[in-house]
Amino acid sequence: MLTNSLDAAVAQRDAALPPDVANARHDAALQRDAALSPTPAEDQGSSVSSIPEDPVISIRALHKRYGENEAVRGIDLEVRRGEIFAFLGPNGAGKTTTVEILEGFRQAGAGRVQVLGINPWRAPSAWRERIGIVLQESEAEPGLTVRECLCLYAGYYRAPRSVDETLALVGLSEQAQERASALSGGQRRRLDVALALVGDPELIFLDEPTTGFDPSARRAAWEVIAGLRDLGKTVFLTTHYMEEAERLADRIAVIAAGEIIAQGTPHTLGDRQLSVAQITFAPPHEMRLGELPATLAGHADQGPDGRIVLPSSSVAADLHALSGWALARGLKLDDLEVRRPTLEDVYLDLTTDDPDPTTNEPSPTTNDQPRS
Ligand code: ATP
Repeated sequence: MLTNSLDAAVAQRDAALPPDVANARHDAALQRDAALSPTPAEDQGSSVSSIPEDPVISIRALHKRYGENEAVRGIDLEVRRGEIFAFLGPNGAGKTTTVEILEGFRQAGAGRVQVLGINPWRAPSAWRERIGIVLQESEAEPGLTVRECLCLYAGYYRAPRSVDETLALVGLSEQAQERASALSGGQRRRLDVALALVGDPELIFLDEPTTGFDPSARRAAWEVIAGLRDLGKTVFLTTHYMEEAERLADRIAVIAAGEIIAQGTPHTLGDRQLSVAQITFAPPHEMRLGELPATLAGHADQGPDGRIVLPSSSVAADLHALSGWALARGLKLDDLEVRRPTLEDVYLDLTTDDPDPTTNEPSPTTNDQPRS
């Protein structure tokens, strides 16, 4: 998320607020953004739509420009009820702009946006109660305990979730009496999730929810997020962690330079399911590729590290041929691996303009570092 722009900072601050306060801020923002926006959206006049609420999010031909910069270039998206939808893309791709439009904090330039059946820019406070927002960064309520923070926020909603239940949901029951300002980073993010959940929203926006987490805190957070789906919530997740998207998302969309360049499940994104596997192993001796079984020798290659690389669209048959060949000669196949492209490989392939072939090789493990 951009933190160096005034607009983004305002949207970020407002989004953390309970519905009543956020709506008052929103009115002022509406006037400001309307004055700045060069292209009026097609449907900005309608406050409540008669369109059915499913899908939970529907975007058609959405455009948004900042002066000469067209940040979002005619995207279409649908998010279904009860799914975790991951929105991925490099820095500056247009994710935050899109999410802020969905949250009602930024006005669409053109196109049609419906969230829970309503145009977010004109949404009433009753609509805001139905969404929860977890920002990338937030500030602790000064002086309040974790429980007090939740009670404060719960008071803004007509039908909040029980505070104790919410604490248990995010794993903060034991920290209920601690000052929010004294929480660790990971606990603080759990509190952020709890604050977004205490209103019992139907739709939750999670903006890079595990940035800066250690691996065990990240896994704990994933359990909380997966639990939201079990509760029937719809989650719109923005993340730079491919492993996070792979573990959590039912569906993924990738945006680059303001356009949706791929959509699918973690398994099918970028035709991942059709990709060829690679069998690799360390050669058992100074061997020539021609020594391999005839069915394999033709497409085998030797990598720069000396390992033999076999692209394989029939892994079981190729492994059978290879292991039979090795056993017949009393050879070991050290470091034998079968690699398929990870989601990160696919993502990099989709979003890298001039791909370096070495970065697009499938890897057996997923890098835990965020990608931008
Ligand atoms: P990141 O992953 O870095 O958060 P992003 O995908 O969220 O990036 P956006 O923040 O939506 O991308 O930015 C998309 C484009 O719009 C960028 O070129 C950015 O510089 C520009 N932009 C975003 N907000 C503003 C603004 N308030 N004023 C002017 N330009 C903006």
